[in-house]
Amino acid sequence: MRQLQRSTAALPNGVVILNAQREIVWFNRMAAQLLELRSTADLGLRIDNLLREPEFLRYLTRQDYSNPVVIRPTMGEDTYLSLQVVPYGEGQLLLLVSDVSRQMRLEAVRRDFVANASHELRSPLTVISGYLETLGQDPAVDPDLLGPIAEMRRQAERMTGIIRDLIELSRLEETDEVVGGAPIDVAALLSLLRKDVLARPVHPHEVRVRVESAAQLIGDESEIHSAFSNLVDNAAKYTPPEGSIEMRWWTDQGGGHLAVTDTGFGIPAEHIPRLTERFYRVDAGRSRATGGSGLGLAIVKHVLQRHGARLEVQSTLGEGSSFICHFPPERLAQPVAAGLSTETA
Ligand code: ADP
Repeated sequence: MRQLQRSTAALPNGVVILNAQREIVWFNRMAAQLLELRSTADLGLRIDNLLREPEFLRYLTRQDYSNPVVIRPTMGEDTYLSLQVVPYGEGQLLLLVSDVSRQMRLEAVRRDFVANASHELRSPLTVISGYLETLGQDPAVDPDLLGPIAEMRRQAERMTGIIRDLIELSRLEETDEVVGGAPIDVAALLSLLRKDVLARPVHPHEVRVRVESAAQLIGDESEIHSAFSNLVDNAAKYTPPEGSIEMRWWTDQGGGHLAVTDTGFGIPAEHIPRLTERFYRVDAGRSRATGGSGLGLAIVKHVLQRHGARLEVQSTLGEGSSFICHFPPERLAQPVAAGLSTETA
């Protein structure tokens, strides 16, 4: 303990030692400065009585300390602090504190730029798309131009899709977590998504929905709809018509799980870790041909993160892929009247 204190006293990061009761045992100079701790008065006080930001209190009780939590203490307007708990010894906790205001400000500038640029591009694009549509239907137009006009319309639609996805991503990035939310009827949602696939001009011939749990998912309905619909859309885009898609919802002690499985082209293993990066495409040609923006899985990742969930990807080249969303148990609710269903096309 002495040695730990000596070696951390002069660190540029704040360090607070907490006992099993979460009472402050010791802190270094930087922690005192960042958290406005008083050297004698605050020793022995519980950290959750001193730091009352809801994000931090939730972080402490959740006991998943793998990532830091960022709080905005009320004392400084534009100050952001990153807090991370590291358990050590017998029930003791090390609380690491650093000032991340500069990173957060840069991040905000980047986010605003993307959001503003996307909004600005939307209006001129609407005008271009409008004229192209009119031209495409004008009988006076030289028939040789109809092909190029149709292609321009397709490309304008793609740009509209990219801009829509960029705007959605910046909105998702504004806050870290969906607090609360409403119970979502997963069976109804999957049934709707199945209809969307069947309404595509070309689609995998079989689209199955397997709902093995009546549990509802607690979250933001439009975000969850957007995430699941991106996964189902991908399954439809990257699976040939003779293939099939299955959406499966089930629950166990680990929580709620939604798997979207297809018998499509599959993804080479080396690409899997990077799929959720913005604009990352395994096969740019194929993605473009299907009208993809390369932002779909980035949206999925963000939505899941905001619901405390994670994405698992399994894929075998030439055989198919499975995208599985794992939601924690606290995101589940039991409906009043339970019923299970299976739909096949
Ligand atoms: P896109 O708009 O290009 O589909 P996404 O972010 O949704 O962008 O997906 C990123 C890339 O991951 C896609 O370009 C595609 O190469 C690959 N991918 C996603 N889902 C599947 C799937 N079900 N089967 C095969 N490849 C997929």
